[in-house]
Amino acid sequence: MEQRALFIIFGGTGDLAYRKLYPALFSLYEKGYLKEHFAVIGTARRPWTDDHYHEVVVNSIDDAGHDVSRTNTEMARKFASHFYYQSHNVDDANHYVALKDLANKLDDQYELNGNRIFYMAMAPQFFGTIAGHLKDQNLLTDNGGFNRLIIEKPFGRDFETAKELNDSISKAFNEEQIFRIDHYLGKDPIQSIASLRFSNPIINALWNKEHVDNIQVTLAESLGVEERAGYYETAGAMRDMVQNHVLQVVSLLTMNRPEIYDAKHLREKKVEALNNIQQYTEEEAKQNFVRGQYGADEIGSQLPYRDEEGTADDSEIETYVAGKLVTHNSGLAGVPIYIRTGKRLAKKSTQVNIIFKGLDKNIFSELTGKKEIPTNVLTIHIEPDQGYTIEMSSKSGNQGYDIQPHYLRFRMTSEEKAKVPDAYEKLIHDALKGDKTNFAHWDEVSRAWKLMDVVRKTWDNTVPEFPNYVSGSMGPKAADDLLERDGRKWEFNPLK
Ligand code: NAD
Repeated sequence: MEQRALFIIFGGTGDLAYRKLYPALFSLYEKGYLKEHFAVIGTARRPWTDDHYHEVVVNSIDDAGHDVSRTNTEMARKFASHFYYQSHNVDDANHYVALKDLANKLDDQYELNGNRIFYMAMAPQFFGTIAGHLKDQNLLTDNGGFNRLIIEKPFGRDFETAKELNDSISKAFNEEQIFRIDHYLGKDPIQSIASLRFSNPIINALWNKEHVDNIQVTLAESLGVEERAGYYETAGAMRDMVQNHVLQVVSLLTMNRPEIYDAKHLREKKVEALNNIQQYTEEEAKQNFVRGQYGADEIGSQLPYRDEEGTADDSEIETYVAGKLVTHNSGLAGVPIYIRTGKRLAKKSTQVNIIFKGLDKNIFSELTGKKEIPTNVLTIHIEPDQGYTIEMSSKSGNQGYDIQPHYLRFRMTSEEKAKVPDAYEKLIHDALKGDKTNFAHWDEVSRAWKLMDVVRKTWDNTVPEFPNYVSGSMGPKAADDLLERDGRKWEFNPLK
């Protein structure tokens, strides 16, 4: 169904707008969710004309892989004609007056019913300033239309700065109007975690401390820091990946079943799940978290992090984090959750492994001489593969009773994956509909910071021995030790 709205994109000339937002809006246009009744104002410092802006928008959707050069040329041009550019310095109050005039004009011209989505595709230090001006210069409509604010990560550097940021935008927008993007929540396989857990009686019945031995979450990247050193030197893996994406996944894995699957009920259960993760003391954080930074690879063809362009020679930024979390959520109370993320690892893969408890007795041991039988493992593949694998055990076509693992596999084909909407397309569509199910609530963001701040604090007080893992490995040895001391090992190991 067509949605009516005016988008005002702060940072309209930036990388995010070009690579993600314009192609996502075009996909919504292709599918008819945006038609005649929408307009976009892009604002940034550069003095672009509307015509130039239209070229940029068409190029961005072309670069994103949409077929613009042939059949879609007319459609892309028509789409781009809904875009208006206004040169703007976020600190200058006068510009907001001009922005308001243009917004009101477009509202009439396209019959937008006063619906406005403000998208902050800029560095977070500007969010408070922009929100203040939007309010003071009356850019928020009050004629029955909606005012929604979409903001990007990073949402603060720790709890204190996140709270300051939240307070600053809350002067103009209430929590219901704020859509905090964690693009992981827009990914189809992340959204499917709840459907897998709560649509399958066999999975649902086993998802508890009686049957689950441990849960492992891996977000492994094979690339290094690439061109992002400027940002990464101020963030590191903990802020870039763990506080947001990893903890969001953990909350979906450990939450109790919501009454119904909507924003309100899901949020309640996710907040409860995060509150039920044990808040470590500094000593516990030291025992249960490991950080790492990549060095060169074994043949010296990959640069160590500290030699990458834009990084400091003595950088203490972590490119790897592993940790053990414990939940007190009644169903899974005491089940350890091992998490890890890192750059320059052996293989790119985001996956979740649910390792089930073994049986207390192998009745075939007399026949085979083997005491142990393999445990069952459910793997949820998030990217690049999408789907799941269940590892089961049985005898396999041999004379005796040698119990072997077998794999029940479901993988989406590349044709199926190609049809899945991009995370930004889904999330912008959700924001248009006012559906907050897949956005991070302040209660989740703030709790996640509190859980991780204590880890960060222990690290800030000690000098790490970096680099401590080889590019192309699966991270520092200490991350393996973290599991070995519990008598466990990482399930995903492409080097095995
Ligand atoms: P960018 O540097 O490419 O773009 C920044 C934009 O802000 C530009 O349009 C620039 O002109 C504008 N700008 C800067 N100062 C301004 C001022 N004083 N007045 C008016 N305009 C000004 O950054 P980006 O990569 O597009 O990222 C934008 C935000 O999105 C950041 O918060 C970033 O952390 C976040 N983010 C980006 C990505 C990504 O893939 N690029 C992914 C996740 C989150």
